[in-house]
Amino acid sequence: MAIKQLVKRSAGWLYLNTPRPAAPLRGAGVILMLHRVLADDTSALLAHRTELCIGPQAFEHLLRWLKRHFDCVPLMDLLTAPVRAARPRVALTFDDGWRDNAINAFPLLQHHQVPASIFLSTDFIGSRQCFWWESVGETLWGSFGAQARQNLIEHLYGIGRPVPVALLDSATEPQRSQALAQYLQSLKAMSAQGLSQLADACPAQGTPQALDWQQVRQLEDSGLVRFGPHGASHAILTGLDDEQLEHELRRSHEALLRGCRQPLPVYCYPNGNHDTRVRERVAAHRYPYALGTRPGVWRGAHDPLALPRIGVSQHTAHHPSLLAWRMYQGARP
Ligand SMILES: [Zn+2]
Repeated sequence: MAIKQLVKRSAGWLYLNTPRPAAPLRGAGVILMLHRVLADDTSALLAHRTELCIGPQAFEHLLRWLKRHFDCVPLMDLLTAPVRAARPRVALTFDDGWRDNAINAFPLLQHHQVPASIFLSTDFIGSRQCFWWESVGETLWGSFGAQARQNLIEHLYGIGRPVPVALLDSATEPQRSQALAQYLQSLKAMSAQGLSQLADACPAQGTPQALDWQQVRQLEDSGLVRFGPHGASHAILTGLDDEQLEHELRRSHEALLRGCRQPLPVYCYPNGNHDTRVRERVAAHRYPYALGTRPGVWRGAHDPLALPRIGVSQHTAHHPSLLAWRMYQGARP
């Protein structure tokens, strides 16, 4: 293990296990950001998945650790209820609206009675439309066969986005996965239309990736999960013109109103991107709160339309003392 990682884990452990535990986090709220919970931990370990995917064992390990050190509260309690307990509070958020949130994450949330909020990219809910990074990533990884992979490689070459040699020729699986993670990151610079065309160039999948509205209502009925919008098409809001932005915000807002009994008054920016114009338009749609991806903890003094969060990866879920270290970094004045 790298020395740096060991130091951070030790510091994180000490923060929560000293005679003055959690002092810097007193009165603070930590909003955790997750995306997917896969069916097994091994497939969440690869570099191109680890930032967005965790496995069920790591997730359960995280939930037990959170319950030991924090009050696990619904997001709206964290944002609006007065602080009473000495223990710091934590709220779980999931982005995008993945089907595995219902299948793999929810049973564990229910078992441990930990509330969560899920932010839906509403065009995908109840549809077979796929998130581009998942379709492109898994097709290039070979999850849909060699021919589909080759076809996509040729397509990417044809549009001037050749895949890196390291992805094709690296000797080990972790090296290839690392190259794929970097390549997917570079594709984010493409237009929303270009990315959607890329997703169309990948093979159709048998099962939908996203939740459907029936699952959304079942989770909502449990009383443990609430929902908010995360864009409609997952387009990066700062890249849209005024008309497109308005359309995107309205479409996601109305879909939530139709599909949920009590949608959250919290917007979640796709990819965390926002600027003054986006925040103003989100506020105009009657969202007093919005979630970004900048790391930090909530103390009520932040701009409520740019709430900080701390991302959870397979690695940090498996070693939550690393999360503690990040929280304390975020809690420092
Ligand atoms: Zn997202």
